[in-house]
Amino acid sequence: DWSAIDRAVYVHSSTNLQQHLVDGPMVLTRGEGVRVFDGDGKAYIEAMSGLWCAGLGFSEKRLADAAYKQMTTLPYYHNFQGKTADVTIELAERLVALAPKPLTKIMFASSGSEANDTAIKLVWYYNNARGKPAKKKIISREQAYHGVTIAAGSLTRLKAIYDGFDLPIDRIRHVGCPHHYKLAQDGESEEQFATRLADELDAKIREEGPDTVAAFIAEPIMGAGGVIVPPATYFEKIQRVLKTHDVLLICDEVITGFGRIGTMFGAEKFGIAPDIMTLGKQMTSAYAPMSAILMRESIFESIAAESGKRGTFGHGYTYSGHPVSAAVALETLRIYEERDILGHVNRITPTFQSLLESYSNHPLVGEVRGEGLLAAVQLVQSKSPKKFFDTTAGLAKYLVARGHEHGVILRVLQNDAVAFAPPLISTEDDLKQIADLFGRALDDTL
Ligand code: PLP
Repeated sequence: DWSAIDRAVYVHSSTNLQQHLVDGPMVLTRGEGVRVFDGDGKAYIEAMSGLWCAGLGFSEKRLADAAYKQMTTLPYYHNFQGKTADVTIELAERLVALAPKPLTKIMFASSGSEANDTAIKLVWYYNNARGKPAKKKIISREQAYHGVTIAAGSLTRLKAIYDGFDLPIDRIRHVGCPHHYKLAQDGESEEQFATRLADELDAKIREEGPDTVAAFIAEPIMGAGGVIVPPATYFEKIQRVLKTHDVLLICDEVITGFGRIGTMFGAEKFGIAPDIMTLGKQMTSAYAPMSAILMRESIFESIAAESGKRGTFGHGYTYSGHPVSAAVALETLRIYEERDILGHVNRITPTFQSLLESYSNHPLVGEVRGEGLLAAVQLVQSKSPKKFFDTTAGLAKYLVARGHEHGVILRVLQNDAVAFAPPLISTEDDLKQIADLFGRALDDTL
């Protein structure tokens, strides 16, 4: 009885632990394509690719073979003191070639949180190297999700992540979230809203003192904060402000990387020129834990010179550049290319987005938003006047439970937006099934 054992010993992540003792776990035992199965053999179509990560679904044998081959050749090696496995160098070269042009150097870690922690440490080390030891503050945004470690959890601006954990730490600041539908003032156009947010950032940097602000971090499209697609000119305006104040831009592509929104990286879609970029999740299609941090040549040059002076660049993890994860990542990238996953995403995007769009007349739906195979359906109490649910935890839980009953795994963000990030290999029929089962769950929730 897995349920009894689970409740007896297992502390889950992002879960109401007290309620879990009553509800018990959802135990999955097998995966096939875009579906997972529970112990009774019931199939669930995965509308979220797990946690936005299993891009190639749940039964890609080539990834298992790649892991097996590496495990039986060189199962582990680290990258401390100049050592590494050959396969990790191959992956480093491949990712630098794929990444936006100004990014020429790469480090590895195991999770998105570690990658963002690393990005912060890189920025701090860099500004020490540049003789700007006071320039250390990092600005993030309300509703951002950058992970849960102490630093990344401080960048994250979702109550559940910081509340009760004494976060954020010092040196982290936050500015507004670019969600026009929810946060724009009456009559404010997307353009005006973007200008207001850029002005707010400018004012924040001036208030803190430009000599104390090191970097701004952003997801091209906010994921866990509600799949927030920014206004078209938002990043252009934001980057202008950052340039004025010599503030670096860290682009968190942990969700948006590797084709999720129809471009290889979100940076391309929004015209972002990052100084540092973090990757994870779909890099290995989640078959092995791995993340990466890419940086501009000039940042590398400074930190390399500094490490020469100090004797070492004292950062990195036991599993940084793990050869099994590297082999899985390389195979994932080969599959993305061979099967033209990017082309596939672009071909099925119109179907996907219009299937969800068809719910915009539903009485509970205020907005449908998204890019590529990433979307959210915003639930509202009333459309006009716009009224959002205050405490919809019960509604969210009910909707997810109805989804399970109908055979789809859904996720509700911030208790009022249903997120969709189906596997990149989804067919039109899969997407129709997801939309259909979601619709049934939504109707049950009315
Ligand atoms: N950054 C973004 C945009 C994420 O969505 C996540 C996780 O969902 C993270 C960072 C943290 O990644 P991890 O859970 O692998 O630490």
